[in-house]
Amino acid sequence: MVSDFTMTIDGVTATAEKTFAVTNPATGEEFAQAPEPSRAQVDLAMQSAARAFDSWRQDRELRQKTLEGLADAVEANLEELAAIITMEEGKPLKESRAELGDVMGDLRYFASLELPTEIVRDDARTAVRVLRRPVGPIAAITPWNFPLGTAIAKIAPALAAGCTVVLKPSPYTPLACLRFGELTRDALPAGVLNVLSGSNEVGTWMTEHPIPRMISFTGSVATGKRIASAAAVDLKRVTLELGGNDPAIVLDDAVVDDIADALFANAFGNCGQICVAIKRVYVPNALHDELVDALASRAKAAKVGDGLLEGSDIGPLCNQMQFDRVGELLNDATSHGARVVAGGHAIDGPGHFFEPTILTDVNDGLRIVDEEQFGPVLPVIGYDTLDDVLQRANATHFGLGASIWTSDEERGSALAPQVDSGTVWVNTHQSAVPGQPFGGLKWSGIGVEGGPWGMLGFTEVQAIHVAR
Ligand code: NAD
Repeated sequence: MVSDFTMTIDGVTATAEKTFAVTNPATGEEFAQAPEPSRAQVDLAMQSAARAFDSWRQDRELRQKTLEGLADAVEANLEELAAIITMEEGKPLKESRAELGDVMGDLRYFASLELPTEIVRDDARTAVRVLRRPVGPIAAITPWNFPLGTAIAKIAPALAAGCTVVLKPSPYTPLACLRFGELTRDALPAGVLNVLSGSNEVGTWMTEHPIPRMISFTGSVATGKRIASAAAVDLKRVTLELGGNDPAIVLDDAVVDDIADALFANAFGNCGQICVAIKRVYVPNALHDELVDALASRAKAAKVGDGLLEGSDIGPLCNQMQFDRVGELLNDATSHGARVVAGGHAIDGPGHFFEPTILTDVNDGLRIVDEEQFGPVLPVIGYDTLDDVLQRANATHFGLGASIWTSDEERGSALAPQVDSGTVWVNTHQSAVPGQPFGGLKWSGIGVEGGPWGMLGFTEVQAIHVAR
């Protein structure tokens, strides 16, 4: 049992009287302890972030240099951080390394981004310019599926904009963030980044605290709604990156052999536990059986195993709650006539392993289609007309991502704006380039991360009007 993961408050090590266990989902064993902070420690972190804000916001050059330094620290400790992510979250090491690639990419991208000043008028009588001011100390609260990736997607633009941060990762996966705090402690002025761990209650203390002017949250829709209400009391700003139920819409001109690998990878990466994983596939009835077979053969061939072992394609589900939920949704589907074409069972033994599962004879109205399964069970649904499939793809409270699969790029691009989601991909899913915004429509969120839009989300507009 490793218990030397510590929090970072006001630039120094912070331990807590209470700790909680972190479980490796591949073995079911508790392998580390993390600190459960007291309310007084949350207050200390907030006060420290408030004290650090005034000087941090003034020094653009320091911010740039520091963010680059943070990326270098991740690079220098990449293998250790990747192993921690795999042990606490379950994903194969190659996916943990990819997550860290995104982390470094975000830190370097935002280091180079400037806040704009816009001139509205500049004539003999009047000068009006519009500034972007950092909103202040931020409370950042993150989920378990990308332990460090979701945290840095907030920290990098927030710090670059001049905000200071108090971060709390998920209690299932606190270790990568705690370690990041330790590794970068000396590179940051005290208080600029405070890293806590702890339960949901710690999250509520953060959102109720008077100091943060903004809550940047990634997680479930249910928690997002609670956070929005907590923020309303103090009119704190919020960014909410919430769940999704992304449809992949295969068009009648698609070639199954060309798209099956990408569809499978984008549905089963991280064992399906990705906000923008493909969570339902709509395919023309004429291509239905061919696509189901192609996906089923990939599901049968995928090697499920401990993410620390070379050769594992798919790791375990991250925690018991998620494991139980996937089983429950699968049972609900099969009890309503769904047919399992591949997989369909939890795997015996320790750990939260579940066979990659392809379901057919399913339709809208079943929980596995309508809800976010967040696991390795993919429903494939036949359709007849384009109007019908667009209506079904959009008939949901979610609106995070969607994709269109076609051999005619122009046709796919023309159709994309008719899908109600924050991102619509054509012939890919989940891909992003630096500078691309990411966020959800409807219940999938408020605000965006990524690109200049993401950084502007950590700022407020100030107009300076000068009479001449
Ligand atoms: P969750 O909402 O249960 O928890 C997320 C975080 O919120 C945790 O740190 C938790 O401790 C904290 N929390 C819980 N209740 C709180 C409260 N009342 N006040 C303040 N903080 C509270 O989510 P999860 O199960 O960890 O994550 C899975 C969800 O996250 C999925 O729905 C997934 O789609 C979503 N997600 C979205 C994105 C995105 O960018 N849109 C990215 C990753 C995950």
